[in-house]
Amino acid sequence: MENCRVYIETYGCTSNQADSDIMRGIIKRRFILSDDSEKSDIVVINSCGVVEHTERKILRRIDELKKKGKKVVLAGCLPRIADANGADSIVTPDNLELIGDVIGALIDGKRLNLDRRKKIDKSELRCIKERLKENKIAIVSISDGCLGSCAYCATRFARGRLFSFKPENIVEEVKEAVSQGFKEIQLTSQDTAAYGFDGRSYNLADLLNEISKIEGEFRVRVGMMNPNNAIEILDELVDAFKSEKIFKFIHIPVQSGDNGVIERMNRNYTVEEFIEIVSAFRREFDDITLSTDIIVGFPGETDEEFTESCRLIEKVKPDIVNITRFSPRKGTPASKMKDMPDRIKKERSRILTELAMKIGEENNKNHTGKEYRVLVTKRGKKDTFLSRTDSYRPVILKGVEPGKFYHVRIVDFTFNYLRGKVVEK
Ligand code: SF4
Repeated sequence: MENCRVYIETYGCTSNQADSDIMRGIIKRRFILSDDSEKSDIVVINSCGVVEHTERKILRRIDELKKKGKKVVLAGCLPRIADANGADSIVTPDNLELIGDVIGALIDGKRLNLDRRKKIDKSELRCIKERLKENKIAIVSISDGCLGSCAYCATRFARGRLFSFKPENIVEEVKEAVSQGFKEIQLTSQDTAAYGFDGRSYNLADLLNEISKIEGEFRVRVGMMNPNNAIEILDELVDAFKSEKIFKFIHIPVQSGDNGVIERMNRNYTVEEFIEIVSAFRREFDDITLSTDIIVGFPGETDEEFTESCRLIEKVKPDIVNITRFSPRKGTPASKMKDMPDRIKKERSRILTELAMKIGEENNKNHTGKEYRVLVTKRGKKDTFLSRTDSYRPVILKGVEPGKFYHVRIVDFTFNYLRGKVVEK
């Protein structure tokens, strides 16, 4: 049994990547952890079910692996979102600590389907984690689930209601990651702004303040914050971001520039509140990276409502706009609404993408010739490396070492990154 080679393939968000770190650690203790699916006996697919396109891709992949004679364990969100009969065994995100037993049973010819709903504090499993060592980035989950009931979202079926992990464990995990040489800590969850809102006496700002006290040269990237929760703790949050250890990066998904659409999405905030959050950060900090998400073609989205999304993007000028074409997910209220033709969604996606690229270029142009201190976090393509300014702007460099800080001058740009040269200081 211990000769069995197991490979993990991860899809989707950083929460899933953190879950894979835990499963990798458990698997390594009992089996051979493989880095090549071709050379493995069992493949664990840590799946994502956020959009239909990814679902189809994963189901095709399961098919392909089965045809090659592999045993497949389906982990992650998809088992609770779609029919995934092709896999041999199933383990949901709240049962991931049992992945070793699932694999053990599969080797003995038994197929398990572990889908019991329960709350598990994954920060308790921090010591088991086996992180990928190829870069200087460590992902730390702070909670699972959310408090939302967004009309289009199936993730909540998989992850359930919000469960915040213990702050002392999270702080400990960050300390350990820093002592192991990781320099960028990515705090993640389905909604980091909701942290502690499940009846706890602490919130995200408190957590950031505690993490900022940890010694060492490292930076924290705070993951996605939903506007309705971020606004509840806005002043404290902006204060917490003043620490030099926190990247001035905010990911606030607005999803639409039209209040009617946001209401139909059941998202519980207004465009004005989104703008208020962004303005509060911009008032305090000279430079921040703003990332947002937009869904185009939500059922019933009129031309005028879509134009409102374009107007908002033009006004707020985010650095990153993640654009998703609406796709109905089984069991969600939005799946019962009238879907619109694909060609309209495609056209709206194209228009918004062009606009976002134009704004990205304009934003990045302003940095040309400026000098920054950056942290190199990982290898890029060919002989390049990715580094980050304090405001998390990506700067591509050559001839540097991951994990180190450098002074650089920005010499070139595209819509989504800057190119720099190291300067002596
Ligand atoms: S907040 Fe909304 S979009 Fe996010 S996981 Fe929860 S239900 Fe889904």
